[in-house]
Amino acid sequence: SNVHFDDTPFEDVFDIETELGSGQFAVVRRVRDKKTGERYAAKFIKKRRYATSRRGVTRQNIEREVRVLQKIRGHSNVVELHAVYETASDVIIVLELVSGGELFDHVCAKECLDEVEAAAFIKQILLAVRHLHSLHIVHLDIKPENVMLKQRGESHIKIIDFGLSREIEPGATVKDMVGTPEFVAPEVVNYEPLSPATDMWAVGVVTYILLSGGSPFLGDNRDETFSNITRVRYHFSDRYFKNTSKHAKDFISRLFVRDVDQRATVEECLQHPWIRGPEGNAVDIRKASCITISHIQSFKTRQRWKRCVELVMVLLKASKTSRKIGDGRFNPEDLVASCTLICAEEGNLRALHKLSALHK
Ligand code: ATP
Repeated sequence: SNVHFDDTPFEDVFDIETELGSGQFAVVRRVRDKKTGERYAAKFIKKRRYATSRRGVTRQNIEREVRVLQKIRGHSNVVELHAVYETASDVIIVLELVSGGELFDHVCAKECLDEVEAAAFIKQILLAVRHLHSLHIVHLDIKPENVMLKQRGESHIKIIDFGLSREIEPGATVKDMVGTPEFVAPEVVNYEPLSPATDMWAVGVVTYILLSGGSPFLGDNRDETFSNITRVRYHFSDRYFKNTSKHAKDFISRLFVRDVDQRATVEECLQHPWIRGPEGNAVDIRKASCITISHIQSFKTRQRWKRCVELVMVLLKASKTSRKIGDGRFNPEDLVASCTLICAEEGNLRALHKLSALHK
């Protein structure tokens, strides 16, 4: 197809401010509309230059993300599309600014989180997912990083990153190995048809982590993780779940179901007692449980670790090609330059941005 995006020079309309984050092929920056003063988040997506290249995003995939964003407009728990621009190298998706940071970072900064608050967060995720599923859109990348808060200090959730989302008409068969290993459902691992149920599994994983800080299926490597997923091998260990209510555990176990037809739908989840809370003026047992924040903090630490490992791997690769200086040591600048080259070749923008900070 040949969708034409606005090609007015982006810099005529917006001032570009700080970087908000980055992904594999995208950098997100805060921008300011010169006329109105309004602030947005602009996602600069690198276009793929040649069909055979592995860098950048294909036109088809960029258009798919834009089409999804256009369709889902108008729900308070979903990031809102504002405009789309295009330059020679990038497509720029201008989105509503979500400025409260990741939900998990917010939770880590708190002293205590009870299940009433946790369930209220998960409910907002479910409301977003219901909106998507009612439009036959499957997100396919629900994970803590994509659950953000609209404003710092407030509890209003926004789902971001529709880069893997797609429309799946009822009856159509779509198979793809997409998503992040820890969060994917058995049907993804087995290359079986994807469906709205695929998102529901991921909601289960997010809930499990939010309540415990532990990752239910994570193994020592990818194969082990995948094998845990396809065998639905998880448990509610005492160490992490001794304070968790039975409703919460029941909610999660309704989602970790191998058979997609038996797995709870978004409607069923919204009706679940853990989400709805007690009837009438019955006591809310969810209040009794305090979630151990330190466990969730260790989840965040592990996430940061993974990014470090990613960088060290690049560094090891670069050390093989860099020249050593006289005394057997590497020249730091030479090493940084080699790393930069490798990241650029691999299209690893996240690492590339960390490296460019080293240059300064
Ligand atoms: P990945 O490769 O990790 O899937 P991506 O390339 O699809 O990422 P996004 O996840 O959309 O990119 O954005 C990258 C980061 O930019 C996010 O993790 C978040 O920190 C930040 N970000 C994205 N959208 C917004 C927004 N609307 N407001 C504020 N920050 C945002």
